[in-house]
Amino acid sequence: MDAKALYKIGYGLYVVTSRKGEKLNGQIANTVFQITSEPPTVAVSINKSNLTWEYIKESRVFAVSVLRQDTPLDFIGRFGFKSGRDIDKLEGINYKIDQTKAPIVTDNAVSYLEVEVTNEMDMGTHTIFAGRVVDAEVLTDEVCMTYDYYHQIKRGVTPKTAPSYVAEEKKAEASGSGKYQCTVCGWVYDPELGDPDGGIAPGTPFEEIPDDWVCPVCGAAKSKFEKI
Ligand code: FE
Repeated sequence: MDAKALYKIGYGLYVVTSRKGEKLNGQIANTVFQITSEPPTVAVSINKSNLTWEYIKESRVFAVSVLRQDTPLDFIGRFGFKSGRDIDKLEGINYKIDQTKAPIVTDNAVSYLEVEVTNEMDMGTHTIFAGRVVDAEVLTDEVCMTYDYYHQIKRGVTPKTAPSYVAEEKKAEASGSGKYQCTVCGWVYDPELGDPDGGIAPGTPFEEIPDDWVCPVCGAAKSKFEKI
């Protein structure tokens, strides 16, 4: 079987949030999709080890923010590569509370949905939560992020808990001259491309990056990078 065939499936990039009592959390997901239009229903696949899974399981509600194309990597890293068990992911993030009481993240969002779970399917490592859209709003006409754009243009990486994660894929694709990989999240520094968002011009060798530079995805220190 050629697992690469699965990479050809198209996805978007979303923040999925939920609550447990007064506690709020959210995570990045690429597997949000509409199931029916009458009534409007959607589904999302969430890893059972994620805190958001626990919250959806208990409160039976979630909110989805559809991310815009130029969402910064560190925003995606905050929701995708850190755990709500360690940090308050919503601290300093703009969000609102509405019908489901799940936090609706409005930063970098082109639209959002609020969902009440009606069905769930146990898929081993993941649960598919499906439910009815009880409210939705478009916030801006900006272009939304596709998963392909995130990988190809933003050079984003996939956390181990994502449904589409493939363990062997990363190093093989990434290996090459002068490249260094973040040992925390897997993001690869390519000297040809630099890190313009982080102030590192294309053509800068890794060795010449200032010591206070951090991984643009997960915020890990420069010392957490290894040559590949
Ligand atoms: Fe990183």
